[in-house]
Amino acid sequence: MTPASGFKVGRILGIPIYLHASWLIIFALITYSLAMQFSVDHPHWSQTEQWGVGLLTSLLFFGSVLFHELAHSVVAQRYKIRVVSITLFIFGGMARIARDPSRAIEEFNIAVAGPLASFFLYGIFHFLEKVFPASEFLGALSGWLAFINLRLALFNLIPGFPLDGGRIFRAIVWGATKSHSRATRIAGASGKLVAYGMMAYGASFFLKSDWQSGIWWVLIGWFLLDAAQQSVAQVAVREALAGLSAADVMTREIPTVDGHITLEDYGGEVLRTGRRCHLVLTDDRLVGMMNVHMLNSVPREEWAHNSVQAAMIPREKILWASPQEPLLRLLERLLAADVNQMPVVSGTEENGTHVVGMVTRDSILRVVQTGAELGPVTTSR
Ligand SMILES: [Zn+2]
Repeated sequence: MTPASGFKVGRILGIPIYLHASWLIIFALITYSLAMQFSVDHPHWSQTEQWGVGLLTSLLFFGSVLFHELAHSVVAQRYKIRVVSITLFIFGGMARIARDPSRAIEEFNIAVAGPLASFFLYGIFHFLEKVFPASEFLGALSGWLAFINLRLALFNLIPGFPLDGGRIFRAIVWGATKSHSRATRIAGASGKLVAYGMMAYGASFFLKSDWQSGIWWVLIGWFLLDAAQQSVAQVAVREALAGLSAADVMTREIPTVDGHITLEDYGGEVLRTGRRCHLVLTDDRLVGMMNVHMLNSVPREEWAHNSVQAAMIPREKILWASPQEPLLRLLERLLAADVNQMPVVSGTEENGTHVVGMVTRDSILRVVQTGAELGPVTTSR
């Protein structure tokens, strides 16, 4: 799944909050099982009360997960790392940050904040559980929330990357070895080990014919395995791009089109040349950028009546790169803005700027691919 998929439900501390479709499944399951549990534990409650308290408890549980993710996010923001989104999905929550922390201590603090927040909630609900009798709504609700927040904190502390415990583990290895890539490889291996462990644990339930628990653990293990592999792949990308800048991979050939031509003609130009992105000139002045993506955003039947100028990305909205920009940062910006290419501009505001080339996502990925094919090469960069 892509982390920011799902529907947006709001914004907290400037961070968009998303609910993934799979969240609905787990929300319904938890609400149902809570209502069932309350009907067994509290037969004197009315059915409406059993379901009402079940629903409220379930909502507060997801509030707890959100609180956990917000704790990670607040610490990340303190380090000036932008939090792109928080998504609640079937296995819990996920805060997506715009870049990796640049120091081990930052990663450690961001990772540890989540479990600490869950321990904090455990403390609050445990206190409420002591104050209010278990037969009452608040007591019953607090008892379950105390239990689940403690479980959440402990589960997340399992040292398998990318769980919080795995991130804490990586930060410690990173701090000790001063090597981010080695730390990630070790933490990634621990993540795989934990993931396989969970799958094996799940399989043990199958032997006891407890299919529900079995499937659950196998799925969590599978999800973690995938996530661990992805993070290790990310480090390979980092290593392949280290020391390279925009100037290394940009094409110096910059196709241009006239802003007055119709989209129909532009489509023809794209088909004829295979070039997917053009700078738009009007009377020899740079006014914007046009590409296949923008072309496709206009319905086909309107192509004949619209000019490139009407559909292009206007000049002031184009994202630019400088020739010296590190390639990894550039790739992150391309991905964050969801664009495929960026013009490279050199010069200064005073002396006049000019476009010297174009960097595409493909050209960067080719470098990564070639790096993977050649394996580690010791160069003096
Ligand atoms: Zn966490």
